[in-house]
Amino acid sequence: MVSAKAQKSLARRHPWIFSGAVQKQDPAIEAGATVAVRAADGRFLAWGAYSPQSQIRARVWSFDEDKDIGPAFFQDRIRSALQVRRTLPLLSPCTALRLINAESDSLPGLIVDRYADFLVCQFLSAGAHFWKADILQQLRELVPVKGVYERSDAEVRTKEGLGLESGLLWGEMPPERIEVQWGQIRLWADVIHGHKTGLYLDQRENQAQVTDFAKDAEVLNCFSYTGGFGLWALRGGAAHVTQIDASAEVVSLARENATLNGLENQPVEYVVGNVFDQLRAYRDRRRQFDLIILDPPKFVASAAQMNKGCRGYKDINLLAFKLLRPGGILMTFSCSGLVEPALFQKIVADAAIDAGRHARLIAPLSQGADHPVALNFPEGHYLKGHICLVDG
Ligand code: SAH
Repeated sequence: MVSAKAQKSLARRHPWIFSGAVQKQDPAIEAGATVAVRAADGRFLAWGAYSPQSQIRARVWSFDEDKDIGPAFFQDRIRSALQVRRTLPLLSPCTALRLINAESDSLPGLIVDRYADFLVCQFLSAGAHFWKADILQQLRELVPVKGVYERSDAEVRTKEGLGLESGLLWGEMPPERIEVQWGQIRLWADVIHGHKTGLYLDQRENQAQVTDFAKDAEVLNCFSYTGGFGLWALRGGAAHVTQIDASAEVVSLARENATLNGLENQPVEYVVGNVFDQLRAYRDRRRQFDLIILDPPKFVASAAQMNKGCRGYKDINLLAFKLLRPGGILMTFSCSGLVEPALFQKIVADAAIDAGRHARLIAPLSQGADHPVALNFPEGHYLKGHICLVDG
């Protein structure tokens, strides 16, 4: 039984019920089991997955009382997520993409990514975890692949009282590296050890956009991971690319990705280091660039990190503005869901002012279309960015 406030939120089809909104609950219910969510007067509101340890006490599977939450329900939802993917405007060919995007595909807590002949899954909520075997069965029937691998080793699982798990769920073990294609580039994906499920799939279309600004440019790709933005810059005719990341493993994969694309003889410098220090070092040496990409990790993972995280965004953007030649381009991102688009734009604006530069936003950037944001779930919009043009 939930509060009037939660009732309103459910009427707007928001899929989360917070612990504070629950007025009466049966303490014997097992984590992940399906519960009927009811109004104070007993009226049915939704079927939800119960999560006794989480602040998000239940996540809605369905608002339809007649739905039976079970194999046929999951088959239906998975089928419709797959159907949507067939019509999305993605780079072509595209052999690595998100097939199921959790709440935004009406399957809270469930992520399913495809890497060529393999699926990589994350069961991030008590409910998704509870139905793992049935979901796996449906995926096997609906998506013909060689193997299904689990990467439920994301920290958010601990908030649901779940441990971190990864390993083969079905079929063949994925190779250490899977070759995938995104439009004009190929990439090695390490789905076993890589970040997230192997690649930052949400950046695919943004990476391709650097070709518009790369011709003859000196490019600095900060937080490069395995080098996607830099590879596209080379495809776009960049004069020189610097790829910086703190992790030696991912930088070595970035090098191998250049080879995979026949770009190993192009002018690329690889730097294993801290972007903050490196940007300061460039500033002190008066090194300049024509195009800078800033795609940092999530600086704000909780409200407590807000001030420090925002300072981090401001620092790197300020330094980047200082390093750009007149007429240069800054492509800057934040993947912190808690930093709303208006706040991020203000941080970038403050950074330009403090750097003494005048700049204009020429295009907004977001997560790829295979990471859709359900209108009833605005929290799903976490990645935002800008292309900024600095005055000549
Ligand atoms: N742009 C990439 C994704 C970047 S993810 C792509 O499109 O594929 C963020 C990356 O930042 C990770 O690879 C992580 O290793 C790196 N990183 C985190 N903190 C860093 C720091 N202080 N300096 C340099 N790299 C850092």
